[in-house]
Parts: sequence; structure tokens; C-alpha cells
Amino acid sequence: MLPVGFECEETPILNTELLGLDRTEMAAFLAQYQEPAFRAKQVFRACYKRQVRTLDEIHELPKTLRSVISETACVDNLSLTQIFESTDGTRRYLFKLKSGEAVEAVWIPEPERSTICISSQAGCPLGCEFCLTAQLGLKRNLTPGEIVGQIVTVLRDERDRQRLEGELNPALPSINLVLMGMGEPLLNFNYVMKAIRLIADPEGLDIRPRHVTLSTAGVVPRIYDLGKEAIRPHLAVSLSAPNDELRDRLMPINRRWPLAELIQACLDFPLAASERITFEYVLLDGVNDRDEHAHQILKLTAPLRARDAVKINLIPHNPAPGLPFQPSVEDRIQSFQNILKGKRLPTFVRRPRGRDITAACGQLAATL
Ligand code: SF4
Repeated sequence: MLPVGFECEETPILNTELLGLDRTEMAAFLAQYQEPAFRAKQVFRACYKRQVRTLDEIHELPKTLRSVISETACVDNLSLTQIFESTDGTRRYLFKLKSGEAVEAVWIPEPERSTICISSQAGCPLGCEFCLTAQLGLKRNLTPGEIVGQIVTVLRDERDRQRLEGELNPALPSINLVLMGMGEPLLNFNYVMKAIRLIADPEGLDIRPRHVTLSTAGVVPRIYDLGKEAIRPHLAVSLSAPNDELRDRLMPINRRWPLAELIQACLDFPLAASERITFEYVLLDGVNDRDEHAHQILKLTAPLRARDAVKINLIPHNPAPGLPFQPSVEDRIQSFQNILKGKRLPTFVRRPRGRDITAACGQLAATL
């Protein structure tokens, strides 16, 4: 575990990252060394279930084999650079990719089930006006190993902390996983879906899709693709404006896929029994938080509400230098919520976590 605010040595860059390989690929990798299939299972479990840091920690493998493999492979190529800890217990993890870019993940502890928020891209190309990540632009898509590596690193750190606190056999905590960090996950569709399948593997992290939520700004064709996946997360949609005029301004993606197309994609999305799509609505003082906006949301979501297929999270904006907005005041938030709840739209106000370490929603803007 790294002490908060402490810098660590960089991970050496090696060609094959074991985190990111599925069971078939792991078997093919070990077969290069003329190793039987059970070796692949051992390595797979060590990487994902036991979350080893290095090949040397895979004691099930003969020492000579570990040594040979480590000439070309490593567990992951993600360097944990810094950890920031909030007064509310939230932690922000800053990583350096082997290609030099920075990404972030956030740990949000809760008594019952904690949440890990991960990134799917370094930067983001979508330019939402209320988001700091947008100001970075897109650097590149993350690989499955880099996506899964964020989760593994956060869990390792949590376990190390439990050990330091005297816990002899720290258990893997129950977690919810949200793809709401840096980037638009549906613009990195194939790698994100591979990561979700890896994460769900019972021989590995065993985080079931019902505990995973993917948030999109509204990449409509990929919403249809997501609906066809056998193993898929819950769908969340960043709405943040109830009409095209305002959404075109706040979220430029709306000019490509306007609200009518987005709502139709949500209506066509195949939901399981009692599953709902979550709409996220960032409340910006004096911009999108008037009563008329709440009434427009009700109109917009009417066909989804008729099927009991939607709920909405209101997220007071997290201010940051460089962002031209302020959060809505408390009375406004309550009034907005009451209008929505009055028409039986399930509406929740999400209180910010980790604002003091810029770990809250829209505040991730990793720099090294
Ligand atoms: S809100 Fe999400 S989609 Fe929009 S710029 Fe930020 S990271 Fe990208």
C-alpha cells in the first residue's frame, strides 16, 4: 500500500500484460512454454482472484518458470502514482499508463457495498461543458488490462489497509462498479465489453454484471449494440438537459444524436424484470434547474415511465476551477426533485463524495 500522497517507483514496461487475458488467452500464453492447462488456471486465479502484484508472488509456479515468463510478461503495466484521500473516506487513485498518459479511479466506501468508479479512456473526446475531463480531449482508449488493472489495484490497496488495521484474512469487499470515470465507455466498446466479461468471471474477480453500471453520454448506435450483449452491465445515461437546445450547448454529442433518438434507443433497450435505466442529471445553478426543466423531463421520459423503465439521479454540480457553473442551491434541488417525484418518477439526489480531493463526478482531470 502507498501512504497517501506518496509516490512510488514506476512499473517496468513489458510486452505481455497478464491482466486483460481471458482464460483461453491465458492458456495460449502458457502453452508457449509447453505448460499444461492447469498452469493457466493457476495464473488466472493468482492475477484476478488473489490480485498478485508480480509474477514472483505466484508461488504455485516453479521458480524457473516464473523467471522465464517474467522476461517477457508482467502482471500489469499500470503504475500507481498517487493516492488522494478525502475527509469522507473517498480515495482517488492516479495512474500512469505505459504510454505516459494519466487516468484515475475512485474508491467510495460504504458500510454495505462500496463503489469503485473506473475510467475507460485517457481523457474524453465529447466536450461536455460541465466536466473537467472534457478539457483534456481524448488521449487514447484504455486496454482491457488497463481497465481491469484499476479495479485490481484499488482492491489490493483496500486489502493492504485492512491488514495494516490487524485484519488477518481480509476478504474481498462487496462492490458496485461504475464506468463513470474518465472517458465515454461506449466509444471504447470492444475493450470495455471484454473487461466486463473478465470482471464477471467467477474464477476471477467475480463481479456480476448486476453490480456494474455503464454510463454513456448517448452514443446511440452503441446503446443498441450493448443491448445485444449476453453479459452486460446496467445502462445509465447522462441526460443533464431536458431539451435539444440546451443539451446541444451542454453536451455537444446531442448534435449528433438528439434526444428523440436517445429516448428511442432507451425504449428499445432490452431490460430484465424490474431493471430500470438510470438517467443522470447534473444540476447547474440557473442553467437547467428551473421548474420548467423538471416538467420537460417528465414529458421526455413519459414513454419510459409508462413502462416503469427509468429512474433519475440528480447530481448537484461539482464546481472546479475552469468550469463556468455552480451547483444548484438546496431549495431548488428539493423543488426539482418534488416535481419529478410528484409524477412517480423515482428520483434520488446524489450527494457528492470526495469533492475536497477533486474525486467527485465531473472533476477527474488527471495530470502527472
Ligand atoms: S461527462 Fe463523461 S462523456 Fe462528458 S466529457 Fe466528461 S467524461 Fe466525457
